[in-house]
Amino acid sequence: MIDAVVIGSGPNGLAAAIRLAQAGRRVTVLEANDTIGGGARSAELTRPGFVHDVCSAVHPLAVGSAFFRTLPLERYGLEFIQPPLPLVHPLDGSGVELRRSFVETSDGLGVDAAAYRRLLSPLVRNADFLMRQFFAPLRVTPATVTHSVLLARFGLMAIRSAVGLAKSAFKDAPARALLAGLAAHSIQPLQNLSTAGYGLMLAMSGHAYGWPIARGGSQKIADALVAHLNTLGGTIETKRRVESLDDVPKARVYVFDVTPRQLLAITGNALPDAYRRELTRFRYGAGVFKLDWALDAPVPWRDPRWLQAGTLHLAGTMEEVAASEAAVGEAHPAEAPFVLLSQPSLFDATRAPAGKHTLWAYCHVPNGSTVDMTSRIEAQIERFAPGFKNRILARSVMTPADIERHNANCIGGDINGGSGDLRQWFLRPTWRRYATPNRQIYICSSSTPPTGGVHGLCGYFAANVALRHAFR
Ligand SMILES: Cc1cc2nc3c(=O)[nH]c(=O)nc-3n(C[C@H](O)[C@H](O)[C@H](O)COP(=O)(O)OP(=O)(O)OC[C@H]3O[C@@H](n4cnc5c(N)ncnc54)[C@H](O)[C@@H]3O)c2cc1C
Repeated sequence: MIDAVVIGSGPNGLAAAIRLAQAGRRVTVLEANDTIGGGARSAELTRPGFVHDVCSAVHPLAVGSAFFRTLPLERYGLEFIQPPLPLVHPLDGSGVELRRSFVETSDGLGVDAAAYRRLLSPLVRNADFLMRQFFAPLRVTPATVTHSVLLARFGLMAIRSAVGLAKSAFKDAPARALLAGLAAHSIQPLQNLSTAGYGLMLAMSGHAYGWPIARGGSQKIADALVAHLNTLGGTIETKRRVESLDDVPKARVYVFDVTPRQLLAITGNALPDAYRRELTRFRYGAGVFKLDWALDAPVPWRDPRWLQAGTLHLAGTMEEVAASEAAVGEAHPAEAPFVLLSQPSLFDATRAPAGKHTLWAYCHVPNGSTVDMTSRIEAQIERFAPGFKNRILARSVMTPADIERHNANCIGGDINGGSGDLRQWFLRPTWRRYATPNRQIYICSSSTPPTGGVHGLCGYFAANVALRHAFR
């Protein structure tokens, strides 16, 4: 009998499998798709020779992950590339640059230079510690007691709304827009409490770790995790969609890299009714609408310096970013959406044939939206790069339904395994987090703390709980 079956080979499923295998357990992973990796996959979505990231593309969270950093992933071919500029946020005049150095970044913020330094300096200096706290289940440890002043200071800022913090900390449009764009990764209206925390954490990670891409595509992250798992004795089977517990080989524990809705369908009456009712109350978040392009030349940005940026946030001012996210919150796709864009082939020649390029972008839409956002996303790019459309050779369009078809965890196009608002941030999917009332069944997806992103930490913490509960 094997010790543990992990259902789903996303970054969290693979991290859980590695952690269990590290503890000497015999582990096998069952993956529904014919390719491994879940949200860390790449494919030729447009034309042969053009390698696109199907889901995630930009990896500050993988580089900053307290678990991935302990694994020898570079031995299995994983290499991160740091674009010269982590992020540019264009405005109608010039653009705001988030540079690796927070001092250089603040120098570009005019009247808000000193305020930006005051805000970011303690965070960047303590980035490793804060990442370990932010990306972990809430807990009190000797380290949290020692750093209680820093944590309280960060917590009081992080709990605020992004718009509230931006207006009180900054006087001018560039710094406000920068914070708003970063906070919009929360996929929530920017008036919501705790959206400032997302913005601060992503700014800090940009300075501390950069916003790198994986050479060859995000698939290389999953490939390296699987290669490492294999050396620990773990195995993986693709094309194994689990629809009920009857589809799973007998094992001491089952660790599910799926969201609550799938867990309910698969486990049936193996979980008690009261817990099932709690799971049904779990709330999914907004969806995304994604485009990938094959281009015959780089994007003709109005400012050629933006070709140095790995990622761009397109929407304009804080007010425009906030209007886009507020519309989504009210179940209307935005007319002028906030667009997150990555241009990997400028820094990684393996992504496209010589002289050609790939481009990745998405915007937030209401969960399950069927509205075609193609022209609205391309209009935002044209706004800052006139002539962009003339460079398009081919495009791949993924609606929320397509995204869910590619990965059953993206319910209605939700890429974070459930809303990451304040209520569902610490205790997800229920107060039990990774455990269920059944000592054989655990959940390790981004529907658990610390939510979405390619960091593997949900898997790592879930595996530790399973090891404590089921293998004592
Ligand atoms: C469009 C998009 C853009 C993103 N951009 C970024 C980014 O730039 N940076 C970042 O850090 N994160 C990004 N993310 C988020 C990130 O990809 C996810 O948060 C992360 O992959 C979650 O990992 P996971 O292991 O919890 O789940 P997933 O990666 O979703 O993996 C779940 C796996 O389980 C499998 N599965 C589901 N149901 C079953 C079943 N019944 N039987 C067997 N297998 C099953 C799925 O096929 C999938 O392989 C993005 C996501 C998307 C979709």
